Amino acid sequence: MSKLEIVCALLTGTRLAEVIVRARQILYPGSFTILAYHRILAVNQEEYPFDPEVISVTPEELEREIRWLKQYFTIVTFAELAAILERNRKPPPNLLLMTFDDGYRDNYTTVYPILRAYEVPATLFLVPGFIETGVVPWWDRVCYYFKHTPRREVWLTEWGPLAWPLKDRTDRERAAREMIALLKSVEDGQREQLLTALEAECEVAWPPEMSRDLFLTWDEVREMVASGFEIGAHTLTHPILTTVFDETRLRHEIAQSKLILEQEVEQEVLAFAYPAGRFNPLVERLVQDAGYQFAVSCCAGRNQLSNYQPFALRRLKVETGKDFNRFRAKLALPEVVIY
Ligand SMILES: [Zn+2]
Repeated sequence: MSKLEIVCALLTGTRLAEVIVRARQILYPGSFTILAYHRILAVNQEEYPFDPEVISVTPEELEREIRWLKQYFTIVTFAELAAILERNRKPPPNLLLMTFDDGYRDNYTTVYPILRAYEVPATLFLVPGFIETGVVPWWDRVCYYFKHTPRREVWLTEWGPLAWPLKDRTDRERAAREMIALLKSVEDGQREQLLTALEAECEVAWPPEMSRDLFLTWDEVREMVASGFEIGAHTLTHPILTTVFDETRLRHEIAQSKLILEQEVEQEVLAFAYPAGRFNPLVERLVQDAGYQFAVSCCAGRNQLSNYQPFALRRLKVETGKDFNRFRAKLALPEVVIY
């Protein structure tokens, strides 16, 4: 058992986690926590064709988490957070925001009915370029290629050179993770070239039906907004903003996503999520210039109302493979239980 697992067992086995959460609202009344989810799915990992790391939890786990959160936290949207900040009054205890990135369709088929049943609000960070376009994002494509290639090894000789043996499932998963890490760091223009090279090298035919129903439709987004969901922007096409060196393009990705979403759903878009959580001072300034009030990163931790960074808000990622005890421990002591 690792040290972290011992801490989690101590915190949750004794219900100390709940005592700490309650004590926090007295000791630190002005803090707020933002949870980051992506997909909510129950799948067989071996059969799932895409990136398994985008799956946060199963529907049952989400429901269990919400039941627990409702007992100890006040769940709000960014619009409600803005109103609390404006009023400058004593905030409700243990403020928490639930956010879902990318706008996968399970946000409608699974998250929507669960959150509606528990009357819990949430913010969806959407990418207009993923809605009704048939696009499959690069992280899912990479996993698809490595899972389905008939090749026993893959070489990208012009890029490094890069080489991966693909004897078994472990090899294939490692190759996909390494390629995704590389694609997050290469210059934006190179990403598509690398993907095209990988697709050719893997000799995988892309079935057109794979992209069907992958993301929300505009009608589904509008229906969710009408029932209380909040929309945030997550760029126009999901580039990693720190790898885009053309300022005009950066401005377009940041500002245009806000405009399109506001036109489509008729709700003011206050919050922005940096793709992969990555930003720099220029990106931060452009987000501010575009008229957003908040931007969320993937830096782990909670935020203080008296001293928060509106364009570098911290979030706690809810991850697949981590159990409910880890979730409770993380919410109680995010400073210790980061992963
Ligand atoms: Zn994203």
